[in-house]
Amino acid sequence: MTLREALQYAEEQLRAGSHPVRARLDAEALLLHLTGKNRAWLLTHAADPFGGCTATQYAALLQRRLTGEPIQYITGTCEFYGLPFHVTRDVLIPRPETEHLVEKALELARNMGAPGLDSETWESTQPPGAPSMESAAGGRHGWETTSSSTSKRAPSLARTLGQGWETNTLGSWSGSILDIGTGSGAIAIALAHHLPHARVTATDVSPAALSIARENAERNHVAERIRFLPGDLLAPVASDHFDLIVSNPPYVAEADLPTLDPEVRDFEPHAALFAGPDGLAVYSRLIPAAFAALVPGGWLLLEIGYGQSESVPALCAAAGFHRITTTPDLQGIPRVVAAAHP
Ligand code: SAM
Ligand code: GLN
Repeated sequence: MTLREALQYAEEQLRAGSHPVRARLDAEALLLHLTGKNRAWLLTHAADPFGGCTATQYAALLQRRLTGEPIQYITGTCEFYGLPFHVTRDVLIPRPETEHLVEKALELARNMGAPGLDSETWESTQPPGAPSMESAAGGRHGWETTSSSTSKRAPSLARTLGQGWETNTLGSWSGSILDIGTGSGAIAIALAHHLPHARVTATDVSPAALSIARENAERNHVAERIRFLPGDLLAPVASDHFDLIVSNPPYVAEADLPTLDPEVRDFEPHAALFAGPDGLAVYSRLIPAAFAALVPGGWLLLEIGYGQSESVPALCAAAGFHRITTTPDLQGIPRVVAAAHP
């Protein structure tokens, strides 16, 4: 058998499965994963003989895919917001919908400028000889400082800085972000990557997920700027305050279990998916706790599921949030709730 024939055989098998449109892509992805080569190599070696141990291993991978295991768990990799992530069955596979939350967080962060710092506060708090705010947090890294929001937010500076961050270099501080239920680290790592001056904290109740997240932070060169803390929701950061709290928590109703895609239901961690009988069990604890942990003028961003575009904003309003908006995903389904701390 040649490599081309092996690919064709795999493609045919996959075409009869549950995702026929991805049959060719999946067949190639499995082969590339197995051989460690790229597609260019595949094209130029299509006539090479394919057999023995590699063929047996390929058949085993194909079998896993045919039983419905997501391709990302088989290859152990996935892309999120243009960055590479390692995934195992201990973590949810990051979803493209969640990129909307990252997008919204970046937009808010940029609008907040260098949060909590106005030039007066800056002059009086920076060590002698420190770079100016413009050069440290502005010009080079695209932060926009708006005087109205920064001066309004100035009182939060001392509070936010007093929370035991390892660095006290004001020149590198541009806001604090908390990602609750970080899973593979997708959101926290994408934000740390794009906000080089932000301090990011990521929590998860699953120690196994946190160790994958840590590994992903290293892979993406942001490990030194993210604290990973195990525990329930905001419990690990009980006394801290943040400018931005983001979360894609579990939000699937237990009652929806039978209707879930079997690839999700049978392979992804249930602790990452289900949130009580109505899907609101985590939000209803998370939202009031997030309110208490935000600085005045700070923002909460939540991913929501289908049918939650009224219930989740209502929980935010009940907790005291205002300026509550929802943003749709590419399919037009409300996907991200943004809520401001007054
Ligand atoms: N943020 C990741 C993403 O968007 O790909 C993972 C999201 S996944 C839907 C939810 C995550 O929340 C899982 O990693 C799960 O372990 C974690 N989780 C569930 N309950 C939690 C709790 N009470 N406190 C902290 N994390 C929790
Ligand atoms: N988006 C996931 C799904 O496909 C659910 C993730 C979550 O509960 N946050 O079901």
